[in-house]
Amino acid sequence: MPPEQLAPDLWRIRVPLPFRLREVNLYLVRGDHGYTLIDAGIDTADARSTFDGALGELGLTESDIERVYVTHMHPDHIGMAGLRARAGSRVFIMREEERRARFVWGTEPFSDWITHAREHGAGGDVAEGIVVAVTMLRKAVTLPERFEFVADGEVVEAGARKLRIVWTPGHSDFHYVLVDDEARVIFCGDQLLPTITPNIGLYPECRPNPLEDFLWSLGRFEREATYTILPAHGENYATLPERLGQFRTHHEERLAGIRSQVVASDGAGATAFDIVRHFWGDKLSTHELRFALVEVVAHLEYLRFAGDVTRETVSGIQRYRS
Ligand SMILES: [Zn+2]
Repeated sequence: MPPEQLAPDLWRIRVPLPFRLREVNLYLVRGDHGYTLIDAGIDTADARSTFDGALGELGLTESDIERVYVTHMHPDHIGMAGLRARAGSRVFIMREEERRARFVWGTEPFSDWITHAREHGAGGDVAEGIVVAVTMLRKAVTLPERFEFVADGEVVEAGARKLRIVWTPGHSDFHYVLVDDEARVIFCGDQLLPTITPNIGLYPECRPNPLEDFLWSLGRFEREATYTILPAHGENYATLPERLGQFRTHHEERLAGIRSQVVASDGAGATAFDIVRHFWGDKLSTHELRFALVEVVAHLEYLRFAGDVTRETVSGIQRYRS
């Protein structure tokens, strides 16, 4: 499929994903001294051929890409970054996100993940399933040998455009978006998705309160009410204030639902996994179960930091009480 042209110097390339979330949008900006790519896509055979085909349709080769801005370390955003670097592109990420990328996509054993799943009440089968899923994803990520870094508030180049870096923790600790104040558009990665809320999960070795981080990040876009959002998944939209309200409502409702489960469990207390089972039963794939578990933990920890619930470790299992 040919890339869609969104502006004289801007194209969107849709790259297929092997998940229920079917594709990721990469954005390509033309410049006089090379092209800029925003997000790199996952590294699968399908994704490679789609991306290379899209470049070919524009009469380009990979060596025409001078810069790649990777919004965060998830596999659908960072996966092909190593291929771009090998072809000579400079690859940019936030400094602290590199450590996370090398930890998750490197060769570290998964003992932390197994412990994390078990202490939140998941059985050994679930923990094993998580390890299998992450091991498979490692094959779909090729990291560059070295990254260059962007920092919050910095203004960077993409062709003739000037893009302002805004740190938006929550979905990933050092996720960032790129704001073009002249064209009034935001390349938002996974931060401001149009139809789904990004997964907000507490993972091993992460910042302690990702939901609070995410809600704080939403507050960084008060002045961009009329901007057009170019998301990594789904279609463009220009109704940001309404969308910000929907994200807040979604998490308020989820917090209330989770809190009521903790209250209902009093006596024994509830584990995160008990709450996952309550809301989703056994309808989830291992991949989805992993996201649901870390998402519930993130909400429980938010409630705990707010003083609404307490946590106690009983025989190695974290139980939450009201
Ligand atoms: Zn993501």
